[in-house]
Amino acid sequence: MIFEPELECMDVEARRAVQGERLRALVARVAERVPLYRERLAASHVKAGDIRGLGDLTRLPLTRKTDLRDTYPFGMLAVPRRDCIRVHASSGTTGRPTVVAYTTADTDLFARVCARSLAMAGAEPGMMLHNAYGYGLFTGGLGIHYGGERLGMTVVPVSGGMTERQLLLIQDLKPDVITCTPSYALTLVAECEKRGIAPDALSLRYALHGAEPWTDGMRVQIDRGLGVRCTNIYGLSEIIGPGVSNECVEARDGSHVMEDHFYPEILHPETGEPVPDGGEGVLVITTLTKEALPLLRYWTGDITSLTRGTCACGRTLVKMALIKGRTDDMLIIRGVNVYPSQVESVLARVEELAPHYRLVVTREKNLDALEVQAELAGPFAREIVRETLSEEIVEADHQLRALRGRITKLLHDTIGVSMRVTLLPPGGAPRSEGGKLNRVTDERPRA
Ligand SMILES: [Zn+2]
Repeated sequence: MIFEPELECMDVEARRAVQGERLRALVARVAERVPLYRERLAASHVKAGDIRGLGDLTRLPLTRKTDLRDTYPFGMLAVPRRDCIRVHASSGTTGRPTVVAYTTADTDLFARVCARSLAMAGAEPGMMLHNAYGYGLFTGGLGIHYGGERLGMTVVPVSGGMTERQLLLIQDLKPDVITCTPSYALTLVAECEKRGIAPDALSLRYALHGAEPWTDGMRVQIDRGLGVRCTNIYGLSEIIGPGVSNECVEARDGSHVMEDHFYPEILHPETGEPVPDGGEGVLVITTLTKEALPLLRYWTGDITSLTRGTCACGRTLVKMALIKGRTDDMLIIRGVNVYPSQVESVLARVEELAPHYRLVVTREKNLDALEVQAELAGPFAREIVRETLSEEIVEADHQLRALRGRITKLLHDTIGVSMRVTLLPPGGAPRSEGGKLNRVTDERPRA
């Protein structure tokens, strides 16, 4: 079903007119109410009245995460703090979190875009939702929760962690839909395998995953392991939280952006110039309708591309590709840009491997070295152990060496950088407990 068909399937030109009108009102509002924007607009010689529509968007200044940090906690609010009914915060890697706030109208918008996302993923009123996103300052839990209620679902607010209890609730309450990070979905898949729970014994039909980059390789494993059709949900707290975009279950080839509220652009990571549709670059979003924390051209740091055209689902909302990585996750190895998700999608093609890995970057003799620690899949590892027990250690060793060689070649041929491959026993790589998972250790000395 489509939650707001008149808006999600709107004629593209009619929508552009609405977006242009909203942009004009937004610029007038922030110029009047947010000192940082008043100064930036003046510095770039833009008067609020100069903005007539989307064509003028590139004249507006960019907003970066550092702007929110510099005005911490409430310096960028466009309404008095007492008019906000909720705050959320994202964990900061450098100490202070980024605090975001919502008016009543903002939380209503948040619930609606999450209801749209759930419907895009296959959910319908009356279905049960097992929400395993963390509840708290993180936007995932409460965002999806109110979206599920708005759609008319029965929401089970499980939150993250305690995998054993999660499985018990899934088996007993029989939910139709699950929401969690993709790495936590894989934790659930592994737990089901361990306990001999067959995917078709689970009631789950649809799954929404986001909050960290993932790949089509992981999608196949989750679909098969939980017996679902899973889709990508994308969002970030600075823009609203989850519900910025979601894949439709019909096509699953890009996430429909709720562009009547969050207008997306793709810019070149270094020059900041607009990249034409289909090209890769940094996703930049303007919040067209938010009240408490409206942002002009927010630099998300996420690398993706946009495609337009009619979709099998009937929606006319522009689609964004799965996030390839973040500009700040990007590893530069001997001058080549490498995203952890690229390594991950290569590893997913090797059937002897489990979907868990770790990347370690070091510097040896002034040269960057990337070590890929890949985890052996259970069945393959058991086979080797059996070989070893029958005293054919040499044979097992030979088998592992051959596998390592094959993975090394595949990584080099696909990504163009040579990496050292180490094989870990089952359970050797880090697992998700519901939060975001850090798979990269950079041990290079800081300049
Ligand atoms: Zn679609």
